[in-house]
Amino acid sequence: MKRRQFVGSLAAAAGLAACSKQEDGSAAQAPCSSEAFEWSIATSWPPKYPGLGIAVNNLANRIEAASGGRLKLKVYAAGELVPAFEAFDAASRGIVEMGHDAAYYHKGKVPAAQFMTAIPFGMTFMEMNAWLYYGDGLKLWRELYEPLNLVPFPCGNTGVQMGGWFNKEINSIGDLKGLKMRIPGLGGEVFRRAGGTPVTLPVSEIFTSLQTGAIDATEWVGPYNDITNGFHTVARYYYYPGWQEPAPALQAYVNRQAWDSLPPDLQSIIEISCQAITTDMQSEYTHGNAVALEQLMKDPNVELRRFPDDVLQYLKSITQEIVEEMAADDPMAAKIYKSWSSFLAQSIPNQRITEQAFLATRL
Ligand code: CA
Repeated sequence: MKRRQFVGSLAAAAGLAACSKQEDGSAAQAPCSSEAFEWSIATSWPPKYPGLGIAVNNLANRIEAASGGRLKLKVYAAGELVPAFEAFDAASRGIVEMGHDAAYYHKGKVPAAQFMTAIPFGMTFMEMNAWLYYGDGLKLWRELYEPLNLVPFPCGNTGVQMGGWFNKEINSIGDLKGLKMRIPGLGGEVFRRAGGTPVTLPVSEIFTSLQTGAIDATEWVGPYNDITNGFHTVARYYYYPGWQEPAPALQAYVNRQAWDSLPPDLQSIIEISCQAITTDMQSEYTHGNAVALEQLMKDPNVELRRFPDDVLQYLKSITQEIVEEMAADDPMAAKIYKSWSSFLAQSIPNQRITEQAFLATRL
């Protein structure tokens, strides 16, 4: 016991010495403080859910390893500490220090948060990261969450999603009318204006709702996740492209007081780890989707379908109307929309002659 106390105080002294060196401008290897933190992170994902949920476990493991155990995150899956969509409020109020989910789940409270997940027909994975990290995106996101007492971080991205699972064919705009579909965010609002009824359900409730006919269709993510949930066993038509979510970013957020209590090196570790998770999740989905799509295509009960062009054009025109209305109603949404849309307009000519032109050569 005595020896452990002695080792502890020696480590603390070494930490302080290294910190003062760093302030002198010389290189320092040791952390600025030996203080250790044990935090809780609440999520809206089932335990160890492929992609979205595993990412939070990976985040916790990386932060703990990179900090030498000085910052430990205990991961709470949906419902373990708070319900799926309440991690956001829990972190805002300091019940947990951190949370992980998608910003657009909270559009009722913060309409402009939808820009931080995905806007239908909007940015690709690369464009989203370009806007967030090199444009004004992340700066505006921090400003948006300031009144909520939260510091946000992009933390994961699924890439282009699928349009969803349907039990009837979508051959015309009229086929959307009267459909009840699980589709959150702005995509859901577009779907409503097209005559459908959108619902937001956590992933744990989608399968049963589709199986019992409580909903007629669902979008979720893409082959990698959808096959895990068994949607192909209760719906026949698998539609693409995922117009509603071209590259949704996931978010981690830290309670402001908890963030301010951390020394700078631990703050950096959180920031860098979240950025690494964004790339890592995209890699996991690119691999997982390729494998799962091949498997789904062998199932005689699954038919892959592309939405007709006129349906996509119609949904796109509604999206434009809704985004402009949102900007007209909310000054912060207007500010974010201006930055978001001007970068997207700048990016399109370059993407057209690079990614888009290259992918077209594979056809
Ligand atoms: Ca989705």
